Amino acid sequence: MAGDTVSCQQHGAARATFVCNHLARKPGQRWFSFKPDKRHPFPDAWCSRCDALYERQGGWPDEGETPPISVICHHCYIAGRDASAHSLTGRALGNWISFVSAAIGELKAKQADLCREYDLSRHERFDWDQSTGKLVFSNAGKPAVIADFEFIGSTAKASGTWLWSWANTTHLPRMRKAATTVLELGELLDFRKLTTPLWRGDDIDGWEMAAIAAQLLNAPGVYRSPGDRGASYLLIKRMRAA
Ligand SMILES: [Zn+2]
Ligand SMILES: [Zn+2]
Repeated sequence: MAGDTVSCQQHGAARATFVCNHLARKPGQRWFSFKPDKRHPFPDAWCSRCDALYERQGGWPDEGETPPISVICHHCYIAGRDASAHSLTGRALGNWISFVSAAIGELKAKQADLCREYDLSRHERFDWDQSTGKLVFSNAGKPAVIADFEFIGSTAKASGTWLWSWANTTHLPRMRKAATTVLELGELLDFRKLTTPLWRGDDIDGWEMAAIAAQLLNAPGVYRSPGDRGASYLLIKRMRAA
């Protein structure tokens, strides 16, 4: 059904996606779904109430109770997930904010150490290659510092969004393992910015998500790689002088 289209009152002809009626009616709540992949960029999604049913039945059986399904267009799906990412309130929001600020505090200290130790601002250029998993700082064509990295996620200027690398199918699977661990933590704690593939976000958000990844993975730091269309945030797993 991946190729189905739907005619949306708001967005016109668009791709059909499937969510439970509860999410369709009120998207600003927790969403449950599988990770997006190439064949399923907008995986079926359901709410907490429907997830209790899912857990009880051990999945969505062919015969058995399934949630009441709505078909919504993929633009509405993206907007709905964005509403979910920004939907924490009250004590849950307070917990999220303290979690983020602790991670940012820790990252600042780590970044200062890393910059000092490897003089990162002084190198002429950097290059990274996901096929090797190496980030190389060099001067006059000579490597000076080499890091092993993975992708955390990226910001896009045009859309003003943050995209997790676990949802970015242009990244090799082994370059997204760390980000997938962050997703699992998000699922455990219901931190919705960690479980929403794409949401309205800027570079402040990029640094925050990177800080969470660095803290969780106990990484020495993060590198923000700026590009024409946005920035990629790389998790540095190890760094050494060349
Ligand atoms: Zn539901
Ligand atoms: Zn729509």
